[in-house]
Amino acid sequence: MTKPDPQHVVVVGAGIVGVSAAIWLLRKGVGVTIVDREAPGSEQAASFGNAGILAACSVAPVTAPGMLIKSPKMLLDPNFPLFLRWSYLPRLITHVIDTPIMADESVFDPKGALYGVQNRIADIFSLKIMKSGGIRRALEVAAIARAGGIEVYGGCMFETGLAHAAGAHLMAAVPDLLLQCEFYMANYYAQEDILTQPFPVGNGRVHVPTGPGLGVTVDPAMLAKYAVEDPLG
Ligand SMILES: Cc1cc2nc3c(=O)[nH]c(=O)nc-3n(C[C@H](O)[C@H](O)[C@H](O)COP(=O)(O)OP(=O)(O)OC[C@H]3O[C@@H](n4cnc5c(N)ncnc54)[C@H](O)[C@@H]3O)c2cc1C
Repeated sequence: MTKPDPQHVVVVGAGIVGVSAAIWLLRKGVGVTIVDREAPGSEQAASFGNAGILAACSVAPVTAPGMLIKSPKMLLDPNFPLFLRWSYLPRLITHVIDTPIMADESVFDPKGALYGVQNRIADIFSLKIMKSGGIRRALEVAAIARAGGIEVYGGCMFETGLAHAAGAHLMAAVPDLLLQCEFYMANYYAQEDILTQPFPVGNGRVHVPTGPGLGVTVDPAMLAKYAVEDPLG
Protein backbone atom coordinates (compact mmCIF):
# COMPACT_ATOMS: atom_id res chain seq x y z
CA MET A 1 0.00 0.00 0.00
CA THR A 2 1.40 3.36 -0.96
CA LYS A 3 1.59 6.12 1.61
CA PRO A 4 -1.02 8.88 0.99
CA ASP A 5 0.50 12.12 -0.23
CA PRO A 6 -2.22 14.66 0.56
CA GLN A 7 -2.31 17.81 -1.53
CA HIS A 8 -5.20 19.18 0.45
CA VAL A 9 -6.33 18.61 4.01
CA VAL A 10 -9.56 19.59 5.77
CA VAL A 11 -9.03 20.64 9.37
CA VAL A 12 -12.11 20.51 11.58
CA GLY A 13 -12.07 23.21 14.23
CA ALA A 14 -10.60 26.71 14.00
CA GLY A 15 -9.31 26.83 17.55
CA ILE A 16 -5.62 27.31 18.25
CA VAL A 17 -4.88 23.62 17.67
CA GLY A 18 -6.68 23.54 14.30
CA VAL A 19 -5.16 26.83 13.17
CA SER A 20 -1.65 25.77 14.26
CA ALA A 21 -2.03 22.45 12.43
CA ALA A 22 -3.22 24.33 9.34
CA ILE A 23 -0.24 26.69 9.43
CA TRP A 24 2.25 23.84 9.64
CA LEU A 25 0.51 22.03 6.78
CA LEU A 26 0.68 25.19 4.66
CA ARG A 27 4.39 25.49 5.46
CA LYS A 28 4.82 21.96 4.14
CA GLY A 29 3.11 22.97 0.94
CA VAL A 30 -0.18 21.22 1.64
CA GLY A 31 -3.45 23.04 0.85
CA VAL A 32 -5.79 23.50 3.83
CA THR A 33 -9.48 24.15 4.39
CA ILE A 34 -10.59 24.85 7.94
CA VAL A 35 -14.15 23.93 8.84
CA ASP A 36 -15.84 25.24 11.93
CA ARG A 37 -19.43 25.35 13.09
CA GLU A 38 -18.86 28.81 14.54
CA ALA A 39 -17.36 31.99 13.14
CA PRO A 40 -13.58 32.28 13.65
CA GLY A 41 -12.72 33.56 17.13
CA SER A 42 -15.99 32.24 18.56
CA GLU A 43 -16.51 32.69 22.27
CA GLN A 44 -17.54 29.02 22.41
CA ALA A 45 -14.00 27.86 21.63
CA ALA A 46 -11.59 27.20 24.48
CA SER A 47 -8.98 29.23 22.58
CA PHE A 48 -11.11 32.35 23.05
CA GLY A 49 -10.77 32.02 26.83
CA ASN A 50 -7.02 31.63 26.49
CA ALA A 51 -6.64 34.53 24.04
CA GLY A 52 -5.36 32.11 21.41
CA ILE A 53 -2.10 31.57 23.22
CA LEU A 54 -0.28 28.29 23.49
CA ALA A 55 2.26 28.88 26.21
CA ALA A 56 4.98 26.25 25.86
CA CYS A 57 5.94 26.84 29.48
CA SER A 58 2.42 25.81 30.54
CA VAL A 59 2.34 22.62 28.55
CA ALA A 60 3.60 20.36 31.28
CA PRO A 61 4.23 16.78 30.24
CA VAL A 62 1.61 14.28 31.37
CA THR A 63 2.53 11.75 33.98
CA ALA A 64 4.14 8.90 32.13
CA PRO A 65 6.65 6.15 32.84
CA GLY A 66 10.17 7.57 32.90
CA MET A 67 9.03 11.09 33.79
CA LEU A 68 10.89 10.98 37.10
CA ILE A 69 14.16 10.19 35.33
CA LYS A 70 13.61 12.75 32.58
CA SER A 71 12.47 15.63 34.78
CA PRO A 72 15.93 16.69 36.12
CA LYS A 73 17.08 17.26 32.51
CA MET A 74 13.87 19.18 31.81
CA LEU A 75 14.62 21.50 34.73
CA LEU A 76 17.88 22.53 33.04
CA ASP A 77 16.80 22.71 29.40
CA PRO A 78 15.15 26.01 28.35
CA ASN A 79 13.20 24.16 25.65
CA PHE A 80 11.26 22.15 28.20
CA PRO A 81 8.26 23.35 30.18
CA LEU A 82 9.77 22.36 33.52
CA PHE A 83 12.75 24.66 32.88
CA LEU A 84 13.52 26.86 35.82
CA ARG A 85 15.52 30.07 35.40
CA TRP A 86 17.70 29.74 38.49
CA SER A 87 18.36 33.48 38.67
CA TYR A 88 14.63 33.87 39.38
CA LEU A 89 14.85 31.77 42.55
CA PRO A 90 15.46 34.72 44.90
CA ARG A 91 12.35 36.34 43.42
CA LEU A 92 10.28 33.26 44.23
CA ILE A 93 11.24 33.19 47.89
CA THR A 94 9.15 36.21 48.83
CA HIS A 95 6.13 34.60 47.11
CA VAL A 96 6.37 31.16 48.68
CA ILE A 97 7.14 32.22 52.26
CA ASP A 98 4.62 34.21 54.30
CA THR A 99 7.23 35.40 56.77
CA PRO A 100 8.73 38.70 55.63
CA ILE A 101 12.25 38.23 54.25
CA MET A 102 14.93 40.82 54.97
CA ALA A 103 17.95 41.33 52.75
CA ASP A 104 20.92 42.29 54.85
CA GLU A 105 24.30 41.65 53.31
CA SER A 106 22.72 40.86 49.97
CA VAL A 107 21.90 44.55 49.52
CA PHE A 108 24.88 46.79 50.10
CA ASP A 109 24.64 49.84 47.91
CA PRO A 110 22.16 51.63 45.60
CA LYS A 111 23.05 49.26 42.75
CA GLY A 112 22.27 46.24 44.94
CA ALA A 113 19.09 47.94 46.13
CA LEU A 114 17.96 48.47 42.56
CA TYR A 115 18.57 44.80 41.76
CA GLY A 116 16.73 43.86 44.96
CA VAL A 117 13.71 45.97 44.03
CA GLN A 118 13.61 44.83 40.40
CA ASN A 119 13.83 41.17 41.38
CA ARG A 120 11.81 41.53 44.58
CA ILE A 121 14.37 39.48 46.47
CA ALA A 122 13.03 40.57 49.86
CA ASP A 123 10.28 42.45 51.68
CA ILE A 124 12.69 44.47 53.79
CA PHE A 125 16.17 45.92 53.28
CA SER A 126 18.46 46.40 56.23
CA LEU A 127 20.07 49.81 56.16
CA LYS A 128 23.60 50.27 57.51
CA ILE A 129 26.02 53.08 56.83
CA MET A 130 29.08 50.91 56.48
CA LYS A 131 27.31 48.51 54.10
CA SER A 132 26.32 51.33 51.78
CA GLY A 133 29.55 53.28 52.04
CA GLY A 134 28.32 56.42 53.74
CA ILE A 135 25.24 58.29 54.89
CA ARG A 136 24.35 59.62 51.44
CA ARG A 137 24.50 56.23 49.75
CA ALA A 138 22.52 54.64 52.58
CA LEU A 139 19.83 57.29 52.04
CA GLU A 140 19.84 56.38 48.35
CA VAL A 141 19.27 52.73 49.28
CA ALA A 142 16.35 53.82 51.48
CA ALA A 143 14.90 55.92 48.64
CA ILE A 144 15.12 53.04 46.16
CA ALA A 145 13.47 50.73 48.69
CA ARG A 146 10.69 53.25 49.23
CA ALA A 147 10.10 53.62 45.50
CA GLY A 148 9.97 49.83 45.16
CA GLY A 149 7.54 49.31 48.03
CA ILE A 150 10.15 47.66 50.24
CA GLU A 151 10.45 48.58 53.90
CA VAL A 152 13.70 49.42 55.63
CA TYR A 153 15.11 48.62 59.01
CA GLY A 154 18.21 50.27 60.49
CA GLY A 155 21.17 48.43 61.91
CA CYS A 156 24.87 48.72 62.57
CA MET A 157 27.99 46.64 63.09
CA PHE A 158 30.32 46.26 66.06
CA GLU A 159 31.69 49.77 65.95
CA THR A 160 32.66 52.63 68.18
CA GLY A 161 30.28 55.36 69.35
CA LEU A 162 31.49 57.52 66.46
CA ALA A 163 29.95 55.23 63.83
CA HIS A 164 26.86 54.78 66.00
CA ALA A 165 26.40 58.54 66.09
CA ALA A 166 26.55 58.64 62.29
CA GLY A 167 24.06 55.74 62.21
CA ALA A 168 21.68 57.56 64.54
CA HIS A 169 21.74 60.62 62.27
CA LEU A 170 21.06 58.43 59.24
CA MET A 171 18.12 56.67 60.84
CA ALA A 172 16.66 59.97 62.03
CA ALA A 173 16.81 61.23 58.45
CA VAL A 174 14.86 58.28 56.99
CA PRO A 175 11.22 59.40 56.99
CA ASP A 176 9.65 55.94 56.87
CA LEU A 177 11.75 53.77 59.14
CA LEU A 178 8.65 51.78 60.05
CA LEU A 179 10.64 48.80 61.29
CA GLN A 180 12.77 51.10 63.44
CA CYS A 181 16.43 50.43 64.17
CA GLU A 182 18.81 48.92 66.66
CA PHE A 183 22.39 49.66 67.63
CA TYR A 184 24.79 47.30 69.31
CA MET A 185 26.10 50.21 71.42
CA ALA A 186 29.80 50.41 72.07
CA ASN A 187 28.81 51.50 75.63
CA TYR A 188 27.73 47.97 76.34
CA TYR A 189 30.22 45.75 74.58
CA ALA A 190 33.44 47.78 74.32
CA GLN A 191 35.69 48.13 77.32
CA GLU A 192 36.41 51.71 76.30
CA ASP A 193 35.06 53.98 73.59
CA ILE A 194 36.86 56.66 71.64
CA LEU A 195 34.28 59.36 72.42
CA THR A 196 34.74 61.84 75.24
CA GLN A 197 31.22 61.05 76.43
CA PRO A 198 29.27 57.82 76.19
CA PHE A 199 26.96 57.50 73.23
CA PRO A 200 23.65 59.14 74.20
CA VAL A 201 21.25 56.37 75.05
CA GLY A 202 18.69 56.41 77.84
CA ASN A 203 15.38 54.80 78.76
CA GLY A 204 15.87 52.28 75.99
CA ARG A 205 16.12 54.95 73.33
CA VAL A 206 18.90 56.37 71.22
CA HIS A 207 19.06 60.13 71.44
CA VAL A 208 20.27 61.73 68.25
CA PRO A 209 23.14 64.07 69.19
CA THR A 210 22.21 67.70 68.63
CA GLY A 211 25.65 69.33 68.47
CA PRO A 212 27.42 70.41 65.28
CA GLY A 213 28.57 67.70 62.87
CA LEU A 214 27.79 64.29 64.25
CA GLY A 215 27.32 65.91 67.66
CA VAL A 216 29.96 63.81 69.40
CA THR A 217 33.59 64.51 70.30
CA VAL A 218 36.39 62.06 69.71
CA ASP A 219 38.91 61.74 72.53
CA PRO A 220 42.40 62.12 70.92
CA ALA A 221 44.04 60.27 73.83
CA MET A 222 41.81 57.24 73.22
CA LEU A 223 42.50 57.43 69.50
CA ALA A 224 46.23 57.44 70.16
CA LYS A 225 45.86 54.58 72.59
CA TYR A 226 44.12 52.33 70.09
CA ALA A 227 45.87 53.52 66.91
CA VAL A 228 47.52 50.72 64.97
CA GLU A 229 50.37 51.96 62.83
CA ASP A 230 50.92 48.83 60.84
CA PRO A 231 47.84 46.61 60.97
CA LEU A 232 49.75 43.82 59.26
CA GLY A 233 52.92 44.17 61.31
C1 LIG B 1 -9.68 30.71 30.58
C2 LIG B 1 -8.74 29.70 29.95
C3 LIG B 1 -7.41 29.70 30.29
C4 LIG B 1 -6.53 28.77 29.75
N1 LIG B 1 -5.21 28.82 30.08
C5 LIG B 1 -4.32 27.97 29.47
C6 LIG B 1 -2.92 28.06 29.72
O1 LIG B 1 -2.46 28.90 30.51
N2 LIG B 1 -2.09 27.21 29.07
C7 LIG B 1 -2.55 26.30 28.19
O2 LIG B 1 -1.75 25.59 27.59
N3 LIG B 1 -3.88 26.18 27.95
C8 LIG B 1 -4.76 26.98 28.57
N4 LIG B 1 -6.12 26.85 28.32
C9 LIG B 1 -6.56 25.76 27.47
C10 LIG B 1 -6.40 26.11 26.02
O3 LIG B 1 -7.00 27.37 25.77
C11 LIG B 1 -7.05 25.01 25.22
O4 LIG B 1 -6.41 23.79 25.52
C12 LIG B 1 -6.91 25.28 23.73
O5 LIG B 1 -7.37 26.57 23.40
C13 LIG B 1 -7.66 24.21 22.99
O6 LIG B 1 -7.61 24.56 21.63
P1 LIG B 1 -8.46 23.72 20.61
O7 LIG B 1 -8.17 24.30 19.26
O8 LIG B 1 -8.16 22.26 20.78
O9 LIG B 1 -9.97 23.88 21.06
P2 LIG B 1 -10.96 25.12 20.83
O10 LIG B 1 -10.28 26.44 20.95
O11 LIG B 1 -12.13 24.89 21.72
O12 LIG B 1 -11.37 24.96 19.33
C14 LIG B 1 -12.21 23.94 18.92
C15 LIG B 1 -12.96 24.46 17.72
O13 LIG B 1 -13.66 23.37 17.13
C16 LIG B 1 -14.97 23.81 16.79
N5 LIG B 1 -15.82 22.63 16.75
C17 LIG B 1 -16.13 21.83 17.78
N6 LIG B 1 -16.92 20.82 17.35
C18 LIG B 1 -17.10 21.02 16.03
C19 LIG B 1 -17.80 20.29 15.03
N7 LIG B 1 -18.50 19.22 15.35
N8 LIG B 1 -17.78 20.77 13.79
C20 LIG B 1 -17.08 21.87 13.47
N9 LIG B 1 -16.38 22.59 14.39
C21 LIG B 1 -16.39 22.16 15.65
C22 LIG B 1 -15.33 24.79 17.84
O14 LIG B 1 -16.34 25.70 17.40
C23 LIG B 1 -13.99 25.51 18.09
O15 LIG B 1 -13.86 26.67 17.29
C24 LIG B 1 -7.02 27.78 28.86
C25 LIG B 1 -8.39 27.77 28.52
C26 LIG B 1 -9.25 28.71 29.04
C27 LIG B 1 -10.70 28.69 28.64
